[in-house]
Amino acid sequence: MPNEISRRTLIEMSVAGAAALAAAEAQAKSRPALAKDQKIGFAVVGLGKLSQGQIIPGLRTARSARLVAVVSGHRDKAERIAAAEGLPKDAIYSYDDYDRIAQDPRIQVVYIVLPNAMHAEYTIRALKAGKHVLCEKPMATTIADAEAMITAAKAADRKLMIAYRCHYEPKNLAAMRQVRSGALGKPRLFVTDMGRQATLSDPSDAWRLDKKLAGSGGLGDMGIYGINAARYMLNEEPVEVRAWANTDRNDPRFKTVDDLIAWQFRFPSGAICNGSTSFNYNATMSFELWGEKARLRADPGAFYGGNKFAMVDGGKFTDMDVPEIDQFEREMDWMADVVRGKAPMVSPGEEGLQDVRLIQAILDSAAKNGAPIRTDWGYKRAVDPAAVVDIVA
Ligand code: NAD
Repeated sequence: MPNEISRRTLIEMSVAGAAALAAAEAQAKSRPALAKDQKIGFAVVGLGKLSQGQIIPGLRTARSARLVAVVSGHRDKAERIAAAEGLPKDAIYSYDDYDRIAQDPRIQVVYIVLPNAMHAEYTIRALKAGKHVLCEKPMATTIADAEAMITAAKAADRKLMIAYRCHYEPKNLAAMRQVRSGALGKPRLFVTDMGRQATLSDPSDAWRLDKKLAGSGGLGDMGIYGINAARYMLNEEPVEVRAWANTDRNDPRFKTVDDLIAWQFRFPSGAICNGSTSFNYNATMSFELWGEKARLRADPGAFYGGNKFAMVDGGKFTDMDVPEIDQFEREMDWMADVVRGKAPMVSPGEEGLQDVRLIQAILDSAAKNGAPIRTDWGYKRAVDPAAVVDIVA
C-alpha cells in the first residue's frame, strides 16, 4: 500500500518530507533479499542490447528474482553470458529446443526480449510450457496477436505481465500521485514527444526499421511511452484519436515504417493529448501535463535513469526530489512478487493490448490524413500503479 510519504504532494514536500523519503530509502535498502533458492527463477529470451545491458544486470541484484536460464540463437554468446552469470550449460536453450523449458523446474518466469513481432509466438510457447511470462513492450505488433497472448495466459492459468517499467519508477509514481492529489488542479493538456535518430547500420535498429519485425517505426518503440504515460498520468482512456504522418520514403530507413507521427487523444474529462514520435529527430523522452493550477514537466521522463521531473507554477520550477532506482530490477522483482502472490498485477496483458489498439488507431487515422477514430471501446485499467506501488520499494 502507498506509504505515508507517497501520499503527500511533492509541492508540499518540505525538508522534512525529503528527510522522510531518505529514511524510507535507507530502510528499503536494508530490506533483505530472499534466499537464493527462494527467488523466482527467470529465463531471458533474446540476448541483445536490453538483456545484456539492463535485464541480466538487474537480475544480479534483484531481491525476489534471479537468472536461471538463457535462450538464444547464438550458442557462443549464450555460453559466454551463462558462464559469466554462473549458469550451468544445461541452462542454455536455443529457439529450437525452447519448448523443453516445460521440463525445467528452475524456470518459473520467461522474460521475452525479442524483436516485437516475435513476442507473441515466444510468449504463447512459454505459457503452453506452463511458465509465467514477462514480455517487453510493445506487447505485440497486431491486435490479434495481443489477444491470443491474453487468451493463452488464461488457458494456461499463468501470469502475463508487460514490461512497463515506468509503472514502477519512483519519479513517474510520484508524479502520478501529484496529479491524483489535485496539486495540478484539473488536468487540461498532456504533451509528449518520444523519439530519436535511428541508424540502419546498428543491428538493434535494423529490425526496428523493418515493419515485419517491428510492426511500426518510432511509434511502437518510443511513442508507446507517450501513449502509456498519457493514460497513466491522466488515469483515463482516450475516446478519440486523430493522427498525421510525415515520412520521406527516399530515406533508406523508412522503406517500410513511418517516420514522424503526430497524434491527438481526446479524453472523457475533456483533457487533450498532443503526442509525437519520430526516428528522425533529436532524441527526446519528454512529457508535460498542464493543469489549471500547475504544470508538471518530465524531461526526460522515461529514460533508464536521470529522469528530471519538476512542478512548474508560471515560470517557477520546483524539482521533484525522488530517489533513483534500478527500474529493471524493480520491475522484475514486482513480477516475481506477483508470482509469489505477494503483489497485485499492475501491468497485465490487457494493459499492453490497450496500447497496441491505440497504436493501430493512430496508424489508421494517419493513413486517412487525420480522420477521427473512435477508441471508446470500454477499456479501464484494473489497478492504478499510483495506488499500489510505493515510490520507494
Ligand atoms: P536487440 O536487437 O538488441 O536484441 C534483440 C535480440 O533478439 C538479439 O539478441 C537478436 O539476436 C535476437 N533475435 C532473434 N531473432 C531475431 C531476428 N529475426 N531479428 C533480429 N534479432 C533477432 O533489441 P533490444 O533493444 O534488446 O530490444 C528487444 C525488445 O526489448 C524489443 O521488444 C524492444 O522494444 C524492447 N526494449 C524495451 C526497452 C525498455 O526500456 N523496456 C528498451 C529497449 C528495448
